[in-house]
Amino acid sequence: MPKPLEELRRDIVDVGKLVFQKGWVAATDGNISIRLDGGRILCTPTGVCKGMMRVDDLIICDMEGRKIEGCRDRTSEIDMHLTIYKMRPDVHSVLHAHSPVATGFAAAGRSLNMALLPEVVIGLGCVPLAEYGLPGTPALTEGMLPYIPQYDAILMANHGAVAYGENVHQAFCRMDTVEHLARVTLVAELLGGAKPLPRVEVRKLFNSRDRYGVKSNTGMLPGAPLTAEDLPPSEKMQLTREDLISILDDALRARGVLT
Ligand SMILES: [Zn+2]
Repeated sequence: MPKPLEELRRDIVDVGKLVFQKGWVAATDGNISIRLDGGRILCTPTGVCKGMMRVDDLIICDMEGRKIEGCRDRTSEIDMHLTIYKMRPDVHSVLHAHSPVATGFAAAGRSLNMALLPEVVIGLGCVPLAEYGLPGTPALTEGMLPYIPQYDAILMANHGAVAYGENVHQAFCRMDTVEHLARVTLVAELLGGAKPLPRVEVRKLFNSRDRYGVKSNTGMLPGAPLTAEDLPPSEKMQLTREDLISILDDALRARGVLT
């Protein structure tokens, strides 16, 4: 039994408040949508702070992004939502935010591609980084096209992140996982480097998905999270004091500083 429209409107408003309170959006950033029946999309409009949004601020668009109901204007980012709905019939809600740590990774040109945390490997596999595309143009989604079929959350270079799922609560939880993974990865890097799980453990986690009722198109496929075996061997080396002095002597002699 599909939920009544009024309930879906309230779901978006409630999730919008959470997204704002969690600091995932600044000012009027971000957008949330739900797929309705009849090729219609219920979505947040442009120019409204997600923390102060009301149910009658929401608008309804068709699958070409034309507004068919509501007073406010559509967001230019609706095209990204529509692309995801068209490519993924299983997706019924899309959430786009600029959560600061995940967006930091996206701004540094880094994906969240390591198998670090069991629940993330089970739920998302990993989070790829799509190439930058100018907001408000088709280029915004072009870089995401290769990733949409396989992944349920994507970082958008120099922009933010998007997560999607069967309903708005699953889309929200997936975005929460992305931001959490970004924070944990950052802390691990500050503490000397993230250490991914070994491949045998990652395989066990993928195999446990049925037990947890998790559906995902990721797995031990190209684009799987990097395991301990996938990382290059550490370039750290150990030198004695004598070794170091001899290297420095050689270097100084080569430059004619020592004779
Ligand atoms: Zn955005």
